Parts: sequence; C-alpha cells; structure tokens
Amino acid sequence: MDRDLVKILDYGVDSFTFEEALDYAGSHSGQIVTINPEMIEFARKNQNFSDVISNAELVVPDGIGVEIGLKILGKQVRRIPGVELGKALIVKFSKENRTVAMIGAKPEVVELAVKNLKSEIQNLNIVYYHDGYFTSDEEVQKQVVEANPDLLLVALGSPKQEFFINSLKQSLPNATMIGLGGSFDVWAGVVNRAPKIYQKLGLEWLYRTIKEPQRFKRIFPTLPLFVLRVCKERFSTNKC
Ligand code: UDP
Repeated sequence: MDRDLVKILDYGVDSFTFEEALDYAGSHSGQIVTINPEMIEFARKNQNFSDVISNAELVVPDGIGVEIGLKILGKQVRRIPGVELGKALIVKFSKENRTVAMIGAKPEVVELAVKNLKSEIQNLNIVYYHDGYFTSDEEVQKQVVEANPDLLLVALGSPKQEFFINSLKQSLPNATMIGLGGSFDVWAGVVNRAPKIYQKLGLEWLYRTIKEPQRFKRIFPTLPLFVLRVCKERFSTNKC
C-alpha cells in the first residue's frame, strides 16, 4: 500500500482509513505524527517543527479540526484519533510478538497505564517505560535505544514528543514511533475520553475544554485562525 497524501496549508496528510493506517504503521518503521490544527499553526512559525512533520513516515488527522480543514479544501478524509490508533498498534504488535516501549506522562500515570494495558492485552511485552518528566533527553533516549523496542509510544505533548521521536529515528531505524499526547492519562483511567456522542459529532475538543478550561487558550485563536487560513487557501484556488 502506497501513501496517498492530501495537502493542507503545505503539509501532507495521509488519506488512509483507520484500518489502512494501522496496516501501514504496522509494516513500516519511522515516525507517525497525529496532526491537529495547533500543530500546523506551530509548524508555520517553526521551521524545525515543519521539517519534522514533512519528514514523518505517516501523518494522520487526529481530531475534527484537520478533518474539517480538508473538507473545506474538498477532500474527504476521516479523522483517526491517536489514542485509538496507539491502542490498536499495541494490540497488533503484541499479537505479532513484537515489543513495545512507552515514554511520557507523570510517573504514577505511566505505571498505571502499563498495568492496565498488561491486564487488557494478551502477550503484551513492554521492554521499557519511563515517565515524561526527565531532565536529560539523552539519558532516556540512550535507555530506550538499548531496549530496542519495535513500537515506541511517546506521550509528552506536542511539539516535545515529535522532536523527541525525530531525534531517535537514526538510532532506532526499525522502530515504529508515534506521538500520542494525553493518551497515557486515558489508558491509566485518570482522564476520561469524551462520551461517545461527543466523539461521534467530532466534539471531543469541546468536552475536553469544558473539563479543562485552561485548554481554551490552546484552541483560541488558533482554531479559527486555522479555519480562516484554510478558507483563504481554498479561495485562492476556488471559493470557500
Ligand atoms: N507531559 C509529559 N512531560 C512534559 C509535559 C507533558 O510527559 O514535560 C505529558 C502530560 O503528563 C500528558 C501529556 O504529556 O500526559 C500531554 O497531554 P496533553 O493533554 O497536553 O496532550 P494533547 O493530547 O492535548 O496533545
């Protein structure tokens, strides 16, 4: 299966379905980026981050923002929540006797996430895990390279996790690595995902903003600005 990228504000996003993305990620090494409007807006201002996204081996639209943006541009691509793709990857790798490592979240959160995943997923082999509040990237990177996992899940928030993974690409050339934001908190059971109805309507962001009002300043003015920019892009080719 080849990648089929659709462009949004200069960034290529893979147009895979969930199952296709899972298959592709399971059979390719490299960096998976779960992209959202905040990341695109940041990449526009930060060349290093822009390069990380452009050089990723797989870019999936995480959340409704990018799905809507693509729709405005006339492209029909379904969102792929990172938290779901991450879990499905763990299941897939475990079935295939491949190893897993996890880096990120608070110490007690990653512990609990590991414990819960182990009780839920048969044959799960976690060869390394570490919380996300370390002072030396090099030390943690050295340890994970020694553990040599087939799948590495990094949950440090963006853009930290994308930079962290990017700098591991050379030393872990055979690993599939994905940045997963707050997913470990969900797997640990300390944060709940939005109820199904919010997920279905693409309103998970609204639920999370109600639960954690400090997220508001992450969404505004970034999200409306992003939509405006996408409209402008559409307008310059056609009309919004
Ligand atoms: N985090 C971390 N180290 C840090 C900063 C954040 O491990 O230095 C973790 C944090 O504990 C949380 C995740 O990164 O588990 C970020 O979650 P957030 O909800 O910000 O991510 P999002 O899903 O919104 O990208």
